[in-house]
Amino acid sequence: MTTEFISTLTSATRESLAEIGIADDADLEGVHIPDLLNADVSWGQAHKIIAYLTATGLTFTFRGPDDTWTPARWEEFVESLVDSGILSWEEVAVCVLGELNPPQVGTSLASNDNIKAQYEPRQAMRAVMSWFYEQDGTCRVCGRRMHIEVDHVVGKDEFVKQGRDPADADTLDNLQLLCRRCNVTKRESHKLGGLSFATAQAALMWILHAERPTTLGEFERLCREHGLTMANIRFEEAWAMAIWLAKAGMYELDEAVDEAIAEAVEEAVESADDEPALDQ
Ligand SMILES: [Zn+2]
Repeated sequence: MTTEFISTLTSATRESLAEIGIADDADLEGVHIPDLLNADVSWGQAHKIIAYLTATGLTFTFRGPDDTWTPARWEEFVESLVDSGILSWEEVAVCVLGELNPPQVGTSLASNDNIKAQYEPRQAMRAVMSWFYEQDGTCRVCGRRMHIEVDHVVGKDEFVKQGRDPADADTLDNLQLLCRRCNVTKRESHKLGGLSFATAQAALMWILHAERPTTLGEFERLCREHGLTMANIRFEEAWAMAIWLAKAGMYELDEAVDEAIAEAVEEAVESADDEPALDQ
């Protein structure tokens, strides 16, 4: 039994943890983060716990769409966005198609000086496009076809760490396709990203449109429960959707729109003075 980590938490947090049967570091294995928040652990402390769990490789869970979210329910959900007049089917299609579009390596990779230096004049494009077509078009990590980007297998920062020239990372052999999300969460600065069931942008809107929180506070709480670890300002920005829809009579808020706006503005100002942005 060790409490090396838990002893770094505040006494209030340790009391809350004890109430849900977490007394030593090992008890945190498999913890459901919303249970911590429900036991009155503050987000700041929960974030510290998540960072510890991530760093030590212990597992933990968040909320997400439950088993009732079958393909039929997702279909119904998107249909409801169209039926309510938020989007047209054409816009849905345009949005999806835009996210399926392959990355523009012909103009980026082929004009990269480090890549160009490895080929005879005018041959870089041939090499880059041949490499590109040889890929299978899916993310190497999760297999999705959406949001595909080119990523370094061994990153430039790793090259620097090994005392090598980061320019040497730019070889076709060292490139792979990853989806935007898997690519972003690889970064050191985003170690706590990618915990929610979808990209942050999508998860924010799913929480808003599917869970329909009626206050900003409830929205923020749901975002935390669903694994969004970024700074509060992201929630206050996304909350604009609720306010805009409420103005159009398409969303129910706990209070009048004017009051909701005034409150959200204050929250956003407070967020700016808050602790530095955590992630993303
Ligand atoms: Zn992926």
